[in-house]
Amino acid sequence: MSQTAKLDHKHVWHPFTQMRDWLKSEPIVIVEGEGTVLRDERGREYLDGNSSIWTNLHGHNNAKINAAIQRQLKRIAHSSALGLANEPASRLAEQLVKLANPPQMKVAAKGNMRPEQAAFALARGRKNTPCLGKVFFSDDGSTAVEVALKLAYEFSRRTGRGAKPRFLSLKSGYHGDTIGAVALGHIDLFHKAYAELLFKTDGVMAPYCYRCPYNRAKPERADAREYRRCNWECLGQMERKFETQTKKGNPYAAFVFEPLMQGAAGMVPQPKGWLHRAAEIARGHGALLIADEVMTGFGRTGKEGSTGEDRGSGRNVLFACHHEDVQPDFMALAKGLTGGYLPMAATLTTQAVFEAFLGEYDEFKTFFHGHSFTGNQLGAAAGLASLKILQSGVSSRARRRLEAALRSELKTLWALPNVGDIRQAGLVAGVELVKDWRTRQPFDLRKRAGIRVCEAMARHGVLTRPVGNVVVLMPPYCTTTVQARKMIAVLRKAVEEIARA
Ligand SMILES: *Cc1c(COP(=O)(O)O)cnc(C)c1O
Repeated sequence: MSQTAKLDHKHVWHPFTQMRDWLKSEPIVIVEGEGTVLRDERGREYLDGNSSIWTNLHGHNNAKINAAIQRQLKRIAHSSALGLANEPASRLAEQLVKLANPPQMKVAAKGNMRPEQAAFALARGRKNTPCLGKVFFSDDGSTAVEVALKLAYEFSRRTGRGAKPRFLSLKSGYHGDTIGAVALGHIDLFHKAYAELLFKTDGVMAPYCYRCPYNRAKPERADAREYRRCNWECLGQMERKFETQTKKGNPYAAFVFEPLMQGAAGMVPQPKGWLHRAAEIARGHGALLIADEVMTGFGRTGKEGSTGEDRGSGRNVLFACHHEDVQPDFMALAKGLTGGYLPMAATLTTQAVFEAFLGEYDEFKTFFHGHSFTGNQLGAAAGLASLKILQSGVSSRARRRLEAALRSELKTLWALPNVGDIRQAGLVAGVELVKDWRTRQPFDLRKRAGIRVCEAMARHGVLTRPVGNVVVLMPPYCTTTVQARKMIAVLRKAVEEIARA
């Protein structure tokens, strides 16, 4: 074992990892990356099949992002945002506001509305699409969600919506690992042990067409969203949930969701129209919308019309909410914000929320929250460079190509009896492995089918991580058609190997 591997085994505790298993084998030690390729210390090359856990956008060692960081580094790496401003963070905030409020959202920028008026206006829905004009920086997806949560809580109290604001989120939702974010999540495996530490939130059924108890369709060789037979019972449950809570006299303060695709739930996509309707229901009860775009943001969900059943060929859409004409009151961004280079996050919100925190110093309406590295210059410089690439024609065309390549290559996996569902939303896909596609019978989690398939994929030169028995494919945008084809061919080979074993 190399010196690095030995040191790792001796001292490093890895996230979301059973360390007993980890210590049984020699870890892959990554030393370099270039585009979609990662290189280990032995010189072996791998394709980065999950964009380094959903963070990377334009590939590794990107010349433009490198140069932006180097330019900034020559000036200063970090100064505090507590009491000081800096150029990269200010410019990044401007860019984020521009991209998060595209013209097609028919933004009504009612900057000078009073919070009470705004809360009322927000409840009336589309005609008063909120303008996300304010940016609060932090470090990670979890912190971006925490900020939204605390702001929504306090905004609701201050605008007289309720003394004890209550949150509704999606069952099997995942919003990060800090305690507030965990309270909003509903994945038992991660969350149950800490139940006593958490504040109470409510969960509501999320669409998961492949395993939906209301889907009466027999399994077919297609994305379950396309052949499902149901009466939108999931939305019915949501309506009842909101109605019940409103009748109790304490309507939900906010509805929290991962738009279009729930990542850690197992890449579970929402059928077309679900999000739009869910947002209408929430708004109808006056709830704020908190969109967790930590995974889905920055173009990951592809071009317009590319999700759900129809496959129109519209323009590129940068945020998942906008595919469904939903503009939230809070948008949490992280992972891809710096192109996957540095830890940085942002919570976007409205002028109305901002104003609820204005007052004389001694009224103490200040938002008492902040992180040491808030507004970090290196991160912001990387973010600016990444957003510039994202808006270029070259990147836009590459994303369309990759989306199409994934769509056609993924089809080849239907030939495998252990593939139950293939779910693609733009440039992210989940492949659910099952014992038998005809019955949808899952593999026992203890059999570690997903893990074993990913281990086999690593041996064949493709790195990704499963979520349970769902294999995630989420390549960087610079991935070529040939590389995408290899990723899927290797996945196919790995599933065949595991099926034989
Ligand atoms: C990854 C993720 C988070 C948490 O982000 P971290 O940077 O890991 O704290 C939150 N929400 C979603 C949807 C995510 O995918």
